[in-house]
Amino acid sequence: MWTSTLARFARPALQRSTAAVTCQVLKACCRSGPAAGRLPPSLTSVQLRGQQSLVSASHPASRQLVRHARALDQERLVEVEWEDGGHSSYPFTWLRDNCQCPLCTLQSAQARVLLMCDLDIHAGVDTVEVTKDNKVSIVWPDQHTSVFDPEWLKKRCFSSAARQSLQEELFLNERYYWDSTLCIPTADFQQVLQDDNAALAWLLAMRRFGVVCLKGAPAEQGQVARLCERIGFLRLTFYGHTWQVQDKYMANNLAYTSKKLSVHTDYPALNFPPGVQFIQCLCPAVEGGESQLVDGFHVTQQLQREDPEAFQILTSLLVNFQDVGRDYCDFHLLSKHCIIE
Ligand SMILES: [Zn+2]
Repeated sequence: MWTSTLARFARPALQRSTAAVTCQVLKACCRSGPAAGRLPPSLTSVQLRGQQSLVSASHPASRQLVRHARALDQERLVEVEWEDGGHSSYPFTWLRDNCQCPLCTLQSAQARVLLMCDLDIHAGVDTVEVTKDNKVSIVWPDQHTSVFDPEWLKKRCFSSAARQSLQEELFLNERYYWDSTLCIPTADFQQVLQDDNAALAWLLAMRRFGVVCLKGAPAEQGQVARLCERIGFLRLTFYGHTWQVQDKYMANNLAYTSKKLSVHTDYPALNFPPGVQFIQCLCPAVEGGESQLVDGFHVTQQLQREDPEAFQILTSLLVNFQDVGRDYCDFHLLSKHCIIE
C-alpha cells in the first residue's frame, strides 16, 4: 500500500493534453503542432537544464526599419519594404480591423474597441506613408488615421516563415514524442522553488515532454501545493484542492484501493480536464506500486499511421462520460468527448 498527495493544476499555456501528462492512451490530442524528434537516450537532468535555454521564452524585439510603404489598390494590400530588403503585405481590411489607435483599441487592455458592425470591409486607402519616426501611417477614406509600429507589423507578417516563428514563440511547439526508451527528465524540487531559471527549465521540459520528475521534496503533505503556487493556482475539483490517494474503506474511486490501475486519463467527465497533474509519493510501497506513463501523442501518431480507420472513429465519435459520487462535495458530472481530440 502506498499513499501520495495529488493536486490538479491547470494553466493553458502549459497544456500538452491530460493524456500526455498523465498515464494513458485512451484520450490523446494530436492537433498540437509538429512531431518532435526522439529524446536522446543520454539526456540527463543537467543537460536538460542546459538545453532548456531561455531563448524560446523570450524574444527581445529587434529594431525593425521601414524603407518604404505603398498601397496596392488592385490587390487591396499595403506593401511594406523593410530596410533589410524583405517585403511584407497586409490586407487593407485587416489593417483597418487592427487599427491600434485609442478609438479602435483600448490601450490598457490591448483589446479591440472597434465594433464589427462599424468595420467597412470594402474600405480603400487614401494615403500610405512612412512617418519621420519610421512608423507606417494610413489614412482611410473617412480620414481616420491608423499608425502602426514597424515591430508590431513585422511580427504579424503574413509569410509562412513569420507565422511559423510567431506560433513557436507563442506556443512553444517543440515537442518530444516518446516511448519506453524515454529517460524521464528530472529537476530539483528545491531549486525549482527558489530559482526562476530552474523553474522555467522545469516548465519548458513539462511543455516539451509532458512529464518531469522532481526530486528532493520533503516527504510530507503540502508540497504539491507549494509547487503549484510557485507558478499559478490550484484548481479546485470535487476531490478538493489536494487530496490523499490511499487505500480507503468504501472507496469512491479505484485509485483509493490497492488494486492495480491500467493506463488512463483522469477526469474525462469534466468538460475541461486539468492540464497538469502533480503527484507526490509520500510513502513508497514495500513491494510493487510502480507508476506507468504513456505518451498519448506518440500513441495517437502511431495509430493514425497504422490504423487510419480506427483513428478516424476515435477522433469523431462522441462518447458519454459520467462520474457520480460524494467527496469534497456531492458530484454528478456528465460530459461528451471524442476519445482522441
Ligand atoms: Zn483607429
